[in-house]
Amino acid sequence: MADTCINHPNKPAMTRCIQCHKPVCDECTVSGFYGSFCSNACQQKYKDYAQRKEAMEQQAQAHKGSGLLGKLIVLAVVIVGCVLAWKLLLTPEKQKELKDRVSETAAEVKEKASETATEVKEKAKEATEKK
Ligand SMILES: [Zn+2]
Ligand SMILES: [Zn+2]
Repeated sequence: MADTCINHPNKPAMTRCIQCHKPVCDECTVSGFYGSFCSNACQQKYKDYAQRKEAMEQQAQAHKGSGLLGKLIVLAVVIVGCVLAWKLLLTPEKQKELKDRVSETAAEVKEKASETATEVKEKAKEATEKK
């Protein structure tokens, strides 16, 4: 099963190109950030593919993040709407109490939203650094 180099029929192959899977000897191996290749052309091809994939993953992450933020904003609007409706039926005293509650809830929602945004950003960064 000993493969020989595609360029040197007398030399045993030490590696396989991770792009085209052709066997190559030490001398012919092109090593780079992404692994071992039979040629610079293969390395370039693999690099293009890896970078495209990365970009797509980042886009997907960003999309997920904006969806979550949207949901939080809708939630905040619903809460404020309910509170405003109740307000019409309440005494001034209760109204004041409720007003404090609303600003508290709004602050909480705002905090959650920025937390989510930070998390999404970090995840995207992590994905980039891993490769
Ligand atoms: Zn190759
Ligand atoms: Zn060779």
